[in-house]
Amino acid sequence: MTDVLKFGGTSVGTAERIQDVARLVGTRGGDPCLVVVSAMGGVTDLLEALKSSSKVKDRAAAEAALEVLAARHRAALEALALPAAESRACAAALDEELRRARELSLGISLLEEISPRTSDALLAIGELISSRLVAAALRARGTDTVWIDPREILATDPTHGAAQPDEKEAARRVSARVVPELEAGRTVVTGGFVGAAPDGSTTTLGRGGSDYSAALFGAALYDAGRAVDRIEIWTDVDGILTADPRVVPAARLVPEVSAAEAAELAFFGAKVLHPATIRPAVARGIPVAVRNTFRPEGAGTVVRRDAAGTGVRAIAMRTGVTALFVGNPRMLLAYGYAARVFSVFERHRVSVDVIATSEVSISITVDERAPLEGVVRDLAEFAEVSLLPHLAVVSVVGKGLRSTAGIAVRVFGALGDVNVVLISQGASDTNVTFVVDADDAPKALRRLHREFFESEGHGR
Ligand code: ASP
Ligand code: MG
Repeated sequence: MTDVLKFGGTSVGTAERIQDVARLVGTRGGDPCLVVVSAMGGVTDLLEALKSSSKVKDRAAAEAALEVLAARHRAALEALALPAAESRACAAALDEELRRARELSLGISLLEEISPRTSDALLAIGELISSRLVAAALRARGTDTVWIDPREILATDPTHGAAQPDEKEAARRVSARVVPELEAGRTVVTGGFVGAAPDGSTTTLGRGGSDYSAALFGAALYDAGRAVDRIEIWTDVDGILTADPRVVPAARLVPEVSAAEAAELAFFGAKVLHPATIRPAVARGIPVAVRNTFRPEGAGTVVRRDAAGTGVRAIAMRTGVTALFVGNPRMLLAYGYAARVFSVFERHRVSVDVIATSEVSISITVDERAPLEGVVRDLAEFAEVSLLPHLAVVSVVGKGLRSTAGIAVRVFGALGDVNVVLISQGASDTNVTFVVDADDAPKALRRLHREFFESEGHGR
C-alpha cells in the first residue's frame, strides 16, 4: 500500500515547516510513501518576477530577485542543520540550481525575450530545490529516503507552461524508477508541478500544478500495479467546510464529499481543491484527502468517487457576478435563437454559469470581469440586452438534491425576505443554485446554513 503525500508551498515555506513535514512523514509508520513537494511559498512568484525583470533588462531588479532566491534557500538549508555530508551535497545542488537561474536570467535579458520553454526551465527551479531540501531533512532524521528528479518520471507533451501529462509513459517510468525504491522500503521525494517533454526539456503543468502532479503520480503508481491507499493533499486549511467560515462562523468540516460535489463546490467558490487536478486519482477510485499541516491531528476532508450519504453537503457562494437579460419577444421561441445567443458568448470566449429562461428573455450570469462590451454589442444586433451587476451566485450542494422532495421548499423558505434574482436551471442533480444581490449573499448563506446544518435533525 502506497500513500502519495503532497505538501504545498506554505507547508514547506521555512526550515521549521520542512522539519515538521519530515517529522510527519517520518513518524507515519506503514509502507513508505511517495512525497510530492511544491516550491517554498512565494518562490514561484519570485521566479515569475525574475522572468519579468530579466525580460525588460532590469538587471538590478533581476539580480535582487536572484539574491532573494539564494538567501531564502540558503537560510533554510542552514537552519535545517543537516549532517555535514548531507549539507554539502544539498548546498552543491542548490548552487547548481541558483547558477542555472542566473544563466537563464542573463539569457532572457540578452534576447529580451522569453519562450515558454525557457520560462519552464526557470519556474521549475523552486520545486527542484524544495524537494531536495525535504528529502535531505527526511534522511537526516533517519528515514531511508531517495530524491527523484520529477523530470525522470512525469512524462508530458511539449506544451511548455501548460503541459499535458502522458499518463501511459509516466506509469512506465514510475514503474521502473519509483516502484523499486518503494519496494526496497525507501520513501521517495519528488517535486510537483514539473515534468519533461519527449525531447527531455523541462515542462510545467501550469501554476498550482502540484496537486495535479500528486494525482498523476498516484494514478501512475496505480497503473503500475501498486495498491494506492490514498492521496493526501497537505495544505494550510482543515479541508472543505460547510460554508466559508468568514461569512458563516458556525461552518464546520465536511468529512467526506463525492467528486461531483467537490467539483460543484470548487466551481461555486470553495477554493480548496480544483477538481480537474484530482481527476486522474478519482477516475481510478483513489480517495483524495485534504489535510492541514498546521493541525495534523485533524482528519480533513476525503474526496471519493462515490461518497456515502445524500442531502446537503455544503453551501457555496461566488460574488463578482453580473447578469445579462437577453430578450427578443418575437424570436424567443424560434429555432436557433438560444444557439445564436450562446454563440456570441462563445465567440468572445466568455464562459457563462447560471442560465435561466422565461417567456421573454434568457438570463445568463457571467464573471463581472469578463469582457462584456463586445458580447453586449453583438447581442444587441438581434436582441434587447440589459445588465444587472453586483450579484452573487449561491449554490446548495449535495448528492440527489433536485430529486429530494422538499429541498427546494426548505431552501427558498429559509431565505425568507432575501430577493432571488434568478434560479438556475442547471442540469446537475448535485446543486440547487440561485442568484441574489451581492449585499444579500452573506445573509442568504447564514440562513441556509442555519436551516441545513445548525437546526435540530438537519437531516444528514
Ligand atoms: N509552485 C507552483 C505554483 O506556485 C506549483 C504549486 O505550488 O502547485 O504555482
Ligand atoms: Mg503553490
